[in-house]
Amino acid sequence: MTTMESLIGLVNRIQRACTVLGDYGGEDNAFSSLWEALPSVAVVGGQSSGKSSVLESIVGRDFLPRGSGIVTRRPLVLQLHKTEEGSQEYAEFLHLPKRRFTDFALVRKEIQDETDRMTGKTKQISPVPIHLSIYSPNVVNLTLIDLPGLTKVAVEGQPESVVQEIETMVRSYVEKPNCVILAISPANQDIATSDAIKLSREVDPSGERTFGVLTKLDLMDKGTNALDVLEGRSYRLQHPWVGIVNRSQADINKNIDMIVARRKEREYFATSPDYGHLANKMGSEYLAKLLSKHLESVIRARIPSITSLINKSIEELESEMDHLGRPVAVDAGAQLYTILELCRAFDRIFKEHLEGGRTGGDRIYGVFDNQLPAALRKLPFDRHLSQQNVRRVVSEADGYQPHLIAPEQGYRRLIEGALNYFRGPAEASVDAVHFVLKELVRKSIGETQELKRFPTLQAEIAAASNESLERFREDSKKTVIRLVDMESSYLTVEFFRRLPQEVEKGGSPAGNPASSTVDRYTEGHFRRIGSNVSSYIMMVSETLKNTIPKAVVYCQVREAKQSLLNHFYTQIGKKEGKQLSQLLDEDPALMERRQQCAKRLELYKASRDEIDSVSWAR
Ligand code: GDP
Ligand code: MG
Repeated sequence: MTTMESLIGLVNRIQRACTVLGDYGGEDNAFSSLWEALPSVAVVGGQSSGKSSVLESIVGRDFLPRGSGIVTRRPLVLQLHKTEEGSQEYAEFLHLPKRRFTDFALVRKEIQDETDRMTGKTKQISPVPIHLSIYSPNVVNLTLIDLPGLTKVAVEGQPESVVQEIETMVRSYVEKPNCVILAISPANQDIATSDAIKLSREVDPSGERTFGVLTKLDLMDKGTNALDVLEGRSYRLQHPWVGIVNRSQADINKNIDMIVARRKEREYFATSPDYGHLANKMGSEYLAKLLSKHLESVIRARIPSITSLINKSIEELESEMDHLGRPVAVDAGAQLYTILELCRAFDRIFKEHLEGGRTGGDRIYGVFDNQLPAALRKLPFDRHLSQQNVRRVVSEADGYQPHLIAPEQGYRRLIEGALNYFRGPAEASVDAVHFVLKELVRKSIGETQELKRFPTLQAEIAAASNESLERFREDSKKTVIRLVDMESSYLTVEFFRRLPQEVEKGGSPAGNPASSTVDRYTEGHFRRIGSNVSSYIMMVSETLKNTIPKAVVYCQVREAKQSLLNHFYTQIGKKEGKQLSQLLDEDPALMERRQQCAKRLELYKASRDEIDSVSWAR
C-alpha cells in the first residue's frame, strides 16, 4: 500500500472507530473533536443534480437510491475501506453491525428502509445520519457524505420549513473547516443558478476546499458546451473543475452496470470533439484520484494536530482506566486478597468518619450532648412526684399502719417508679447512635472509590456491617438498661443520711396545734418527701447522663471501630473460588465502560503508531 493510501486509510479507520464508539458529530463528547479534526468529503448540490450518482461512480458500485424528486432524505456517511486485492466486497451499516451485505441492491433497499424508519414514508427529512461502510479492493479510502439536495420550494407533502431545514443541515456539514466540498452542478443549467456554488462560496470563500463537479454533460443542448466552466472561466476555484457523465435514468432502468458506465464515460470524453483535449482530467475515476490526492495533502498538514489530539485522548483514556480500575484477578487467592483490600479501604474511611477527618462522627457526640440531656429533662417527674401521687404511693406502701418517722417503703416505691422512666432515654440514645453508625456505613461505602465497580461486594459489606451494628445495639441496650436497673437495686445510703431529719416544728407561731398536726401529715410532709425523691432522681439523672454515653461508646462505637467486619472476614475465609468471584461481580455498566475505554485506547494507540510510521516514511 502506498503512503497515501495508508494515510487516508488510517484516517478512515479512526473515523470508523469513532462512529462505532459513538464519538462523532455534535454530541457533547470529548472524542468528537477527533472526528472533526479528520477530513471528510460532502456532496452539495440542488435536487437531482446528480450527487448520489457522483458518489456511486466514485465508489464504483450501485447502491444508492437515485431518481427524480427528493430521494436522499437523511445524510449518508459513507466510509470506503480499501481491502486486499481479491477479497470479497461487502457493506455494513452501523445500525446493523452484525450483518454483512454482499448484494448491493439490498444495501440500497436498506438505505431506503432506514430513511423511512426515521422519517416515515413521507417526504420529510431528518438530520440523523445513516452510517455505511464499504469494504472493497476496488475503492479508495475515503469518507463521503451524501446529503439531501438543496431545494427552492416545498413540494406536496412537505412542510414549508423543509427548504430552510435542508439548507441548515447541509450547511452544518460543509461549514466545518475539515470538510471537503464536492459542489455538484448540472451542466444543463446555467452555472449562475447553481445552489452548490452559492452555498460553497459562502462557507469556503477562498475555494480552497471546494471541488467543482459538472454533471450531465451529455444532456447539454446540442451545439453548446461547458468549456467555460470546465476551464475555470465562468467561476474560478482553486481546484480544477471536473466534468462527469453519469448514467441516465434510462441507463439505470436498463441496469447498465458500473463497469460499463465507466467505460462509456471514458469513451465519451475520449471521443468528444469539445472535451477531447481534457479527457485525462475528466470523469469519475479522475475525480476519485484528485480527491484522494487532496485528502493526502490535507492530512499531512493536519498530522501534528491529529497526533496531539490522539495523544490527549490517550491520556484521558488512561486516566479514566485508572479510575475504573484494572480487570479483576481470576485466581481465588488474588480474589480473596482483593476483597480484603477493598474491605480495608472501606473500613479506613468508616474509621475516619468516627475519629474525625470526615464528617458524621460528631453526630454521635450530638446525641450525648443534646438529645440525651433533653430527653432526660423532659421526663415527667413533676407528675410522678406531684403531692397527690406522692401521697397515694406512700399511703399504699404504708398499708394499714401509717409510717411513724419516715416512709421507707414509700421512698423506695417512689424512687423505683421514677427510675423506670430512665429506660426510655437510655434506649433512645442507643438507637440514635445506631442510626448514626448505620448512616456512616452507607456513606463510607459510597465514598470508597475502589468499591464503586463491585455492587455485589458493596451490598455484602453493607449487610455484614448492619448485622454487626444490630448486634452491638442489642448488647448496648442490655448494658444501659442494666445501668438503670442498678440504680434502683441499691439506693445511695449517704444521700438519705444527709437529709435533714424531719423535726417537729411546732406549727405556726400563731399556734393552732390541731391544724399543724394535720399539716404535718398532709401538704408539707408529702411535699418534702417529693422534693427529697426529686433531688435523689436528679442526682441519678446526672450520673446516667455520664454513664449512658460511656456504655454506648463502649458497646457500639468502640466495637464498630474495632470489629465491624470481623464476622464477615471469618465468613469470607471459608468461601470457595466461585463464591469469591461472585462477590467481585462488577457493575455491568462499568464493565461495559471499561471495555469501551480499552477498545478506544487500543484504537488510539494503534493510530498513533501508524501515524508515526507513516509520517516517517517520506
Ligand atoms: P441527486 O438528487 O443529486 O442525488 O441526483 P441523482 O444522482 O439521484 O440523479 C438524478 C437523476 O439524474 C437520475 O435519474 C440520474 O440518472 C440522472 N443523472 C445524474 N447524472 C447524470 C448524468 O451525468 N447524465 C445523465 N444523462 N443523467 C444523469
Ligand atoms: Mg441523492
